[in-house]
Amino acid sequence: MNRKESGKLHIVQESLKMKDNKYLIKGVSRHYSKPMNMLSLNRTPEWKLDIASKQKKLSGLLLDRCIALDCCPICMSKEHRLFVSIFDYPFHQCDACGHIFSQRPPATDAIRDLYNEHQDSNDTKAVQSEVYAKKELYKKRVANIARPKVNFVNKIVKEKGRWVDIGAGVGDIVASAKESGWDAIGLESDLAEIRFAEQMGTKLVNAFIDESNMDRYLKGAKLVSLFNVLEHIPSPGEFMRLVSSSIPDGTNVVIEVPRHPSISSFANKAFPEYAARHIYPPDHLHIFTEKSLDIILKENHLNIEAIWLFGQDIFETFSSMAIKGGHENQALFSPVLESVNNLQADVDKADLSDTMIVVAVKRKAV
Ligand SMILES: [Zn+2]
Repeated sequence: MNRKESGKLHIVQESLKMKDNKYLIKGVSRHYSKPMNMLSLNRTPEWKLDIASKQKKLSGLLLDRCIALDCCPICMSKEHRLFVSIFDYPFHQCDACGHIFSQRPPATDAIRDLYNEHQDSNDTKAVQSEVYAKKELYKKRVANIARPKVNFVNKIVKEKGRWVDIGAGVGDIVASAKESGWDAIGLESDLAEIRFAEQMGTKLVNAFIDESNMDRYLKGAKLVSLFNVLEHIPSPGEFMRLVSSSIPDGTNVVIEVPRHPSISSFANKAFPEYAARHIYPPDHLHIFTEKSLDIILKENHLNIEAIWLFGQDIFETFSSMAIKGGHENQALFSPVLESVNNLQADVDKADLSDTMIVVAVKRKAV
């Protein structure tokens, strides 16, 4: 790159930062980057294409069971505009808080049917030999994904106690939290995931958490976590109201959500036909800005103390480009994938990561 080009790139980066700064939250400790070995997790472009085609099919099945939203589900502003349309689902961006939301999401009962119908095809139906392979992959998943998240929490939250993980999935966070000395339990409504977690050695509680049982499950918690949960819930603000009203002052709340502005948002906009994560229907209803997440937390007396940005923006972009060009099996692509972490670290530093984890604490009563 010559000097003129590098100067241009610098200007683009600066203008992006200036434009995007308005959604950053101030006065919290900021942390950056989490290295990840995409190849060891089998996250190849072929894998991405396979997921994208399944998501497209599911999205099509629900198209006639959608409702239309007239305002931002976070700040209720009526000023919003189309950001991208994926598999015929419009995603709008709010002018006020920057939040990206599914503007015609499937109705709540349609979402429930979707998850119930597709439980049977889940991992737990695998034959025994496949379970062994999955156990190996699971160990890598715990080491690559769950353990760094728990370590981050341990850096910020010094006092351990009961950790309640809502939407525990296959139990990898619970397993990691226990390893590091927490008295951890996981709540999960998906029976297939509960069975799989049990095969992997982690027992979860089968519960669909709502207003009727929130108090009971959160009783005695020192920390409540929601990893990749809020983006699937039609009204995340309402859900956080329930969480906050069930915990005493001083309790920590840890949340992971997809984040905007990010390079992945741009990749989804440029390559909507390959959307398999981040902005994709029918699963993801929300992509949060720091500001939109802060709005629903502040409303519920939850103050963010630390924020960690990381993501898969470079993988998302490069793998989409490779698929588009039919280049995913070319020799040059492996070194490209191997360079993902270094490039991603720069994306993170520029505050353009596609994922954030925040650690908040319920405010002391005044
Ligand atoms: Zn808004």
